[in-house]
Amino acid sequence: MNFFKGKEGEALPFDVPPMPPDGQMDLFGFIPTSSNTPEPKPQSPECSQNGLVHFKYSPLMKKSIRCKGGVLFGHPEVLLPAYMKAPEFAAARELAAEWAEHAVRRKTQKNKAVIKDLVSRFWQAVDQIFTDKGEMPLSTKGRLPPIRPQGKYHNLVDVLAAINDTYFGGMLSCRITWSNRVGGLSFHTIRKDPVTGENFHLISISRGYDAANCPLYAIAGVVYHECLHIVIPVEVRHGRRVVHGREFRQRERRYIYYEEWIKWHKEVLPRNIRALLHHREL
Ligand SMILES: [Zn+2]
Repeated sequence: MNFFKGKEGEALPFDVPPMPPDGQMDLFGFIPTSSNTPEPKPQSPECSQNGLVHFKYSPLMKKSIRCKGGVLFGHPEVLLPAYMKAPEFAAARELAAEWAEHAVRRKTQKNKAVIKDLVSRFWQAVDQIFTDKGEMPLSTKGRLPPIRPQGKYHNLVDVLAAINDTYFGGMLSCRITWSNRVGGLSFHTIRKDPVTGENFHLISISRGYDAANCPLYAIAGVVYHECLHIVIPVEVRHGRRVVHGREFRQRERRYIYYEEWIKWHKEVLPRNIRALLHHREL
């Protein structure tokens, strides 16, 4: 059933070219068509998830939030800009609620630090929401590049899920996006989630792969390569940074379409990137 089944990286023999253009989906047929994570319940824009902090909206406000203390049994009420009533701001509203709960308390040194942190995470979250939607963030300082895994031709979330299941037992925790640098390369970074304040791995894939002429095995190859950077961190040997060491190269070769991917990467990708730099459609 699962084409990749077997021990990790155990190459299955094949003599024919890896994939006829039409047969691509057979290889990745086990990819779930929709994500397995349950759809979050729509959150009421009237109050916080725990029901304790109430939200009011002002069409006049844009880049500020306010809170009134102790209206309902000691819990604050938060006044937010009207655009934050939209469902995509649910997570940001939760941060605003948390902020208000602290803001109405006594301003101890510790509480002041918590308030400051929550405010900055709140505005970062708001900026990220705007950026992910493809709109300009409110503040341009410290702005985050958008995370957009759905490309013109390929969805990276599906490819990452297949690679994660096949080569990492589904244990890899990371996010993925098409790179925002036109004609750029693929890379891996660590970013901070503005909502949780936690760090996460982000894989960015070159837009040269989001092409009609790009077979899934090539995208899967580059995604696998970037995933390996997460599990095999850069080593410093004799004062030199070893990014693609022996272990890395050995594990990289376990990808069942390694040869085919490398061939595509060397022959087709540079052409696609040149096309992108000349603003041609792929
Ligand atoms: Zn690399």
